Amino acid sequence: MFVQCCVCKRIRVDGEYRLPWPGELTNEVAETYCPRCARETLQRIRSGEFAEMAERRAEERRRAM
Ligand SMILES: [Zn+2]
Repeated sequence: MFVQCCVCKRIRVDGEYRLPWPGELTNEVAETYCPRCARETLQRIRSGEFAEMAERRAEERRRAM
């Protein structure tokens, strides 16, 4: 069972994140954020980027109705 970052696809091995070797990954992968991507994702949330995306999607839904 691996823990894999859903952004950069690195896996956690012995507390470190690195890219998996070909064929190393099994089907049992838990998705998470590595510390670096967690920080970047938080910054994007705080900068309002995700809020803008959500607003655009809501607007598209309104128009489709
Ligand atoms: Zn990552």
